[in-house]
Amino acid sequence: METPLYTARLEKKLLLSERAQSYHLEFSIPELAAFDFAPGQFASFIAKDASGKDQMRAYSIASAPKGNRFDLCLNRVEGGFFSNKICDLEPGEGVIFHGPYGMFTLRSPLTDSIFIATGTGIAPIRGFVQYLFPESGEDRSEGRNLWLVYGTRHEAQLYYHEYFESIAAEHPNFRYLATLSRPQDGWTGLRGYVQDHVAALLKERPIGSAAQSAPATSAATGFDIYAYVCGLNNMVSSNRKQLIEMGWQRKQVIYERYD
Ligand SMILES: Cc1cc2nc3c(=O)[nH]c(=O)nc-3n(C[C@H](O)[C@H](O)[C@H](O)COP(=O)(O)OP(=O)(O)OC[C@H]3O[C@@H](n4cnc5c(N)ncnc54)[C@H](O)[C@@H]3O)c2cc1C
Repeated sequence: METPLYTARLEKKLLLSERAQSYHLEFSIPELAAFDFAPGQFASFIAKDASGKDQMRAYSIASAPKGNRFDLCLNRVEGGFFSNKICDLEPGEGVIFHGPYGMFTLRSPLTDSIFIATGTGIAPIRGFVQYLFPESGEDRSEGRNLWLVYGTRHEAQLYYHEYFESIAAEHPNFRYLATLSRPQDGWTGLRGYVQDHVAALLKERPIGSAAQSAPATSAATGFDIYAYVCGLNNMVSSNRKQLIEMGWQRKQVIYERYD
């Protein structure tokens, strides 16, 4: 059977960071009444390059399911074909895709979790957070302890910062740790790399210490906490290495690498 192809039609485009040339893009899919995917999955986009050759790139869906709409968060890669093609789209224009795909999805049953991202690696994690704490409807977080450790160089590149701050303010079980590796004067928040803050928070919450009153251990694996890591390969590798050195099992670290 042939893979069904759909059109993603751009509805709205916001420049998130001039410096990093990052965009938040909202699409609709005219062929579908509803686009069914698990938060955290990606779609594969197809277009012909200048020589007529088909090019395909994956982009994580940066929203929870919402009818026939979905969001992306991406940055222009210098000299890159597809990122520039998508960032150059204007409302009303479309791009072909298929999917959804991928295993970067919340493990069930939900356990305590640490979400770790840098840069546009925040895309699938925004999907998780929107799903767990929907704007309308019931909270799906089941009271689990959830941490988001989000790192970038400069403050202007902390995408969706106010959204995550507002979720943290409304939900005591969601903690948001934003850290900058090259902060400018005036930044009063955390400094350094995401790994440093992951290590610090795990001293407070070692594996196997889930509250007994609210059992939150996966029956299939016995794990009471998972980490979900998304971003460029170097960052993903450093975080996996650190967690494994701290006694985590490989399967406890779910990850998506962008390069
Ligand atoms: C599962 C998955 C999900 C992804 N989701 C996202 C997402 O949500 N947002 C997002 O911005 N990107 C995402 N990516 C990366 C994306 O697929 C492309 O690799 C990226 O946009 C570059 O494509 P390009 O055609 O512009 O560059 P290309 O023409 O492929 O490459 C140009 C040059 O840039 C380098 N390069 C390739 N990828 C990157 C990168 N990500 N950062 C820096 N340099 C790079 C290459 O080594 C090459 O030298 C995801 C990748 C995967 C595998």
